[in-house]
Amino acid sequence: MTCPNCGVDNAENSAFCKACGASLTGEQPASQAAHQSEAVPSPYQPPVYSMYAPYLPAPRREYTWKDICTIVGFISSIAGLFTFWVVLCPMGLLTSCLGYRGNRTRGLAVAGIIISLLAIAIKIGFILYHLDVLPSWLTDGAL
Ligand SMILES: [Zn+2]
Repeated sequence: MTCPNCGVDNAENSAFCKACGASLTGEQPASQAAHQSEAVPSPYQPPVYSMYAPYLPAPRREYTWKDICTIVGFISSIAGLFTFWVVLCPMGLLTSCLGYRGNRTRGLAVAGIIISLLAIAIKIGFILYHLDVLPSWLTDGAL
């Protein structure tokens, strides 16, 4: 019995070709058998995928130096409201911006950025107010 796919001689009672695996019973056309042989590498992919899948979420959940920056930035921003603002607030702004690129603590980074920006704006506003360099239309009202 000659294989219609590759031409190799097989035993008369064979269901599949011993050389290429094509069906010899005629139920499966040669083109479909060729398509099946193309798909042979695919069984090798799922084991690789499932092997690495449990490790994929792990890097996202790890705390990185950016998350540490976020926490330092948030604490610096809060502390800068009460003391030594001229160093703590810019430091809080800088480290919060660095921490914003992290994965775990983005909300805290945004809070740190807003708090430190507000603190710097208010402080500079007070300084300019006491220096009397702001026009009255800007400083009058709002308490
Ligand atoms: Zn064959």
